[in-house]
Amino acid sequence: MTPNGINTRIVHADRSFGVEHGGVRKPIHTSVQYGFQTVEELVGVFQGTVKGYNYARQGTPTTAALESRINLLEGGVGTICFATGMAAICATFFTLLKAGDHIVVSQFVFGNTNSVLGTLRDFGVQVSTVDATRVSEVADALQPNTRMVFVETVANPGTQVADLAAIGQLCQAHRLVYVVDNTVTSPVLFQPRNVGASLVINSLTKTIGGHGTALGGAVTDTGLFPWADYPNIFEPYRKGDARQWGLAQIRKKGLRDMGAALSSEQAHTLGSGAETLTLRQRHASDTALALAQFLEAHPAVARVHYPFLPSHPQHALARQLFTAGSWLLAFELADADDCLPFINRLTIPTVGTGLADTRSLVIPVAHTIFWEAGAEVRAKMGIADGLIRFSVGLEDLADLQADLAQALG
Ligand SMILES: *Cc1c(COP(=O)(O)O)cnc(C)c1O
Repeated sequence: MTPNGINTRIVHADRSFGVEHGGVRKPIHTSVQYGFQTVEELVGVFQGTVKGYNYARQGTPTTAALESRINLLEGGVGTICFATGMAAICATFFTLLKAGDHIVVSQFVFGNTNSVLGTLRDFGVQVSTVDATRVSEVADALQPNTRMVFVETVANPGTQVADLAAIGQLCQAHRLVYVVDNTVTSPVLFQPRNVGASLVINSLTKTIGGHGTALGGAVTDTGLFPWADYPNIFEPYRKGDARQWGLAQIRKKGLRDMGAALSSEQAHTLGSGAETLTLRQRHASDTALALAQFLEAHPAVARVHYPFLPSHPQHALARQLFTAGSWLLAFELADADDCLPFINRLTIPTVGTGLADTRSLVIPVAHTIFWEAGAEVRAKMGIADGLIRFSVGLEDLADLQADLAQALG
C-alpha cells in the first residue's frame, strides 16, 4: 500500500532506501571517500552510468536521504541539498544565468538574497526588482533576454504575498525559469509546483529543520520546465532525461565546483526535524494567527502584517493559496520610538535573528538585518523603521499573549 498522508510519507521516507544493519533511521555516513571493488565501477560513477558516490562534496547516502525527503514533500523530480539556504539560492543564480541575461526579482525578499543581487549585477546579469504582488509589474519588466523570475511565497519579513499563480502562467507563456522560495510557507502550507514553479528553494534551517540546530538549503526541480529549450545548459549535461538537465548542472557546477556541501551530520539533524514538520508548522501558524488578531486589536500597535488577517493587502490570495498563515508575524508600534524598549520588556521570546525555531525569536528589522541596505532600499522593500519581526515558536499561546500584553503596557 502506498500511503498518501504527508505525515506517514515524511516519517517513513528514509526507509525507501532500505534499512542498513536494521537501524530504523538513516545512519550518518561520515566517509568523504568512496571505494570500489573494481576500477570500472569507479569510472562508471564518474561518468554517471553507475549510481553511487565518489566524494562527499557531491553528496553522501545521508544527504541523499534528506534530498529524497524534501523531494517527496515538494512533489519534485529531484532535489539537491546545500550547506545553507543562501548556498542553494546562489547556486541557482550562478549556474543558470550568465553575463548578458536578465532576471526579474520580487522587491520583497530576504535581506541576504537582496544583497546577492548586487553581486549578480557585477557579474553582468541585469536585475530588475518589482512589486511581485502584482503580475502586471512582472510582465512589464520582461525583456527579450529575461531568463528567470524569482519570488518568495510570503516575503520575509514584510509578509507580502507574491501573485504566485499568475506569475506562474506568465513564466510558462514566456518560457522563463520560475524560482519560488518556499521557506516561510514550507511544503506543508503550499507546494509551488501547483502554480507552475520550475525550481523551489527551501532554507532547511528554518521550517523544515525547525529546531535552530542545523543549517541547510535545498533546490527542488518540479519537472515542469523544458530544459531542452534553455540556452545556458552546458554540453555535458544535455543528455538523458531532459527534466534532469537543470539539476545536473546545479549539482555539478553549484555543488561540486562551488563546494557549499551539506554535511551528513547536519543532514541527519535536519531530517529528524523534518519528521515533525507538519505538527510544528500548523501549531505555530495557529498561535501566530491568534497573536496577530490580539496585536491588531491593541491600541499600542499601529499595524500588523500577517497574511491570514483580513486587513492584509493580499489576504484573499493568501487564503486561496496557503492552508495556514505560517509562523512569520511582523508589526509596528503606534510609538515607533518604543520599538527597542518594547523588545527589551519581552521576557519569553529570544531577542535575536533567525526564523522558525521551536522558540519564538524577536528582532527589530531596520536596525539589524536591513541596516546595511540603507534607508532608500528599506523604503522600497516596505521595511518601516519600527518594524518588529516575531517568529512564532512552539510556546503556549496564553504565555506569549500575556508577555506581549505586559510589554505593550
Ligand atoms: C533564511 C532565509 C534564507 C537563507 O537561508 P539560510 O539557511 O539561513 O542560508 C533564504 N530565504 C528566506 C526566505 C529565508 O528566510
